[in-house]
Amino acid sequence: MTSTALLALCLFQCVSVFGWGNEGHEYVNRVAAEKIPVEMPRFLRHSVAELTYLGPEPDRWRSPSEYALKNAQEPDHYIDLERVAWLDPLPPGRYEFYRKLYEKRAATSDHPDDYLPEHVGLQPYITMEIFGRLTAAFREYRHLREQHQPTSPVEHAIVFYAGWLGHYVADGSQPLHTTIHYNGWVGPNPKGYTTQHGIHAAFESAYVAQNVTAKDFAKLVRSPERLGDPFASYVNYLKESNRQVETVYSLEKAGGFTGKGSAEAFEFTTRRLAAGSQMLLDLWYTAWLDSASSPEIAPAAAAASPSK
Ligand SMILES: [Zn+2]
Repeated sequence: MTSTALLALCLFQCVSVFGWGNEGHEYVNRVAAEKIPVEMPRFLRHSVAELTYLGPEPDRWRSPSEYALKNAQEPDHYIDLERVAWLDPLPPGRYEFYRKLYEKRAATSDHPDDYLPEHVGLQPYITMEIFGRLTAAFREYRHLREQHQPTSPVEHAIVFYAGWLGHYVADGSQPLHTTIHYNGWVGPNPKGYTTQHGIHAAFESAYVAQNVTAKDFAKLVRSPERLGDPFASYVNYLKESNRQVETVYSLEKAGGFTGKGSAEAFEFTTRRLAAGSQMLLDLWYTAWLDSASSPEIAPAAAAASPSK
């Protein structure tokens, strides 16, 4: 394959699976960053440019030239909730989820590979793992402040985790990242929705880039709330997104995402982007508040019983 053909293939494949495109990811992170409340650390409130830059960061990890990275992280961007409707509630840990899926696969004769973890997607797991990293880093920041130690290194880590987290949270607000219908309707199709592999990019990239700005939905994002059970709240947020899959298809069918699109498509898209910023802001705020309590197992105790 020529390098031009390879580039064209990469562009097609990359664009076809990106969540919100570059602009949407920057907007979601920026709007959340601009709403960070005064009770959170000032350095974070002053990191709007860095947090905005990091919105699309995991989409920079999809090049074939970094194959191991591309391969390992692709399932992080989505979850096909229809494939796990039988698994409610979702287990809280990645490896418990893998085990349930492999058991299901072993008991399935029709398309068993549909239940491979990398085919179902790992969206809520990567999100909660980064949320955990952010909480741990906030805890370290509080500890260093108490000890009157320099905090600049941990501040860099916090900004990175917070920005990185934003990517997956934004993906979760895009209904097509929660469904088997992620890029064209599959299976029975009585309403005649498109089966073409263009709807995903047309909605989240081309339409958003041409018609939406961060200002258009910033006013829809409220002050943050602390989440009592972040994993349960996050899974509910994904389910809410999944309930809107058909709306994306009916808007597309009516031409809502073509060119300047329709008022209905604009309303829908800005509400989904706002939902992403709101969940991101709530998760940042929750991580900050949760970091004030002691970890369940102190690092010193963990060191006494080392794992592999
Ligand atoms: Zn993504």
